[in-house]
Amino acid sequence: KVYDALAGRYGFGRSRLLSREETVEHLPTIETDGLRGGVVYHDGQFDDTRLLVHLLVTAAEQGACVLNYVRVSGLVKNASGFVTGVRAEDLEGGAEFEAAARVVVNATGVFTDAVRRMDDPQARAMIRPSQGVHLVLPRAFHPGDAAIMVPHTDDGRVLFAVPWHEVVVVGTTDTPVDEASLEPRPLEEEVAFLLEHAARYLTRDPTPADVLSVFAGLRPLVSAGDADDDTAALSRDHTLQIAPSGLVTITGGKWTTYRRMAEDTVDHAAVCGELEPRECVTRELRVHGYHAHAERFGRRAYYGTDATEIETLEDADPEMAEPVHPRLPYTRAEVVWAAREEMARTVEDVLARRTRALLLDARAAAEAAPGVAALLADELGRDSDWAERQVNDFRALAEGYLVR
Ligand SMILES: Cc1cc2nc3c(=O)[nH]c(=O)nc-3n(C[C@H](O)[C@H](O)[C@H](O)COP(=O)(O)OP(=O)(O)OC[C@H]3O[C@@H](n4cnc5c(N)ncnc54)[C@H](O)[C@@H]3O)c2cc1C
Repeated sequence: KVYDALAGRYGFGRSRLLSREETVEHLPTIETDGLRGGVVYHDGQFDDTRLLVHLLVTAAEQGACVLNYVRVSGLVKNASGFVTGVRAEDLEGGAEFEAAARVVVNATGVFTDAVRRMDDPQARAMIRPSQGVHLVLPRAFHPGDAAIMVPHTDDGRVLFAVPWHEVVVVGTTDTPVDEASLEPRPLEEEVAFLLEHAARYLTRDPTPADVLSVFAGLRPLVSAGDADDDTAALSRDHTLQIAPSGLVTITGGKWTTYRRMAEDTVDHAAVCGELEPRECVTRELRVHGYHAHAERFGRRAYYGTDATEIETLEDADPEMAEPVHPRLPYTRAEVVWAAREEMARTVEDVLARRTRALLLDARAAAEAAPGVAALLADELGRDSDWAERQVNDFRALAEGYLVR
């Protein structure tokens, strides 16, 4: 009831207590040994990189200049020590350049401290990265629409099994890590915890051979200042910091609050940049692809209205409608779309961040890589050596998503 009250008008439905029998009705594959009942509550789910891509397209439609594969390597300051721009490197061509800015916003997730130290090499660490691991299992382990959420396992952790796309995602862990990295890898202990606990709550016990993919992410949690912080206890709220140099840093937070985080950041940045105050418009602004009934696009609901554009590619050339792999729910048209409209530059971009192939089935994704590389090479004007390197790089990456 407290959950419903907090959700207010944003709630998706009312929570209620379930008897043992009702719980089994909702979750036919739940382990019934020791089961006494449950609580049904409603939550939202989304595809994180799909929303991210659509936010970037929305920003571009609003006049932003969006760059991919460009890394900020330093800050430019004036004689009084104020930040007046960034130095950046084009990671594809190798060129270095400077971009002038009234305000620089540092929104680099777990890399926040690295950018803060470009401003002040002595800056104290703000971020305590916390690793979260997810296992992906075939839907047969947990069919239906309801997720299982165990708020308190016997060792005090949270466990969930959520239907997502065509699979079930089992998560998660909360492991403090010392270093931020672009490709964090799951620890054996994390995989063992998830397998063992999934077995405890599902009728069929998953084995390593059942795992379609395992992936890790780093949460940029804001440290309370104590090196021994238990990251599970750290706040998921966001933190906005304005340095004496004018560098604006936004960090912490969650996807759930991303719009609010952006509003706070832009409002403060506007003051720092001495811009005319203006009302924030994003509360009402529709994200690219918006459709009141996106479910009509079937499995491409995540694309919103772009689903129609992808279909047009398929209608114009039937080869485009062929799947990239028999076990993956993506067609060649989605690869071409990603290259033409969504700045995909590599096989990894397409199979990990424009589609979710690597997360849904890492083996299938590795097998699909040559076909995807050939399509991309065509689109981007690359040669067969490039395509071969792309395949090798992607397959090496995909190895890390398999449980042996
Ligand atoms: C396991 C896990 C579970 C989560 N669960 C939830 C959940 O259930 N609900 C929820 O709301 N949120 C959840 N989150 C949190 C959510 O995903 C975070 O809000 C998000 O990961 C952080 O977003 P960000 O934009 O701050 O950082 P990131 O997504 O890390 O983006 C930072 C970007 O900055 C770029 N960058 C870094 N350094 C530079 C540089 N020098 N130059 C140029 N670019 C640079 C990086 O390449 C990256 O693209 C979860 C996170 C994890 C890891």
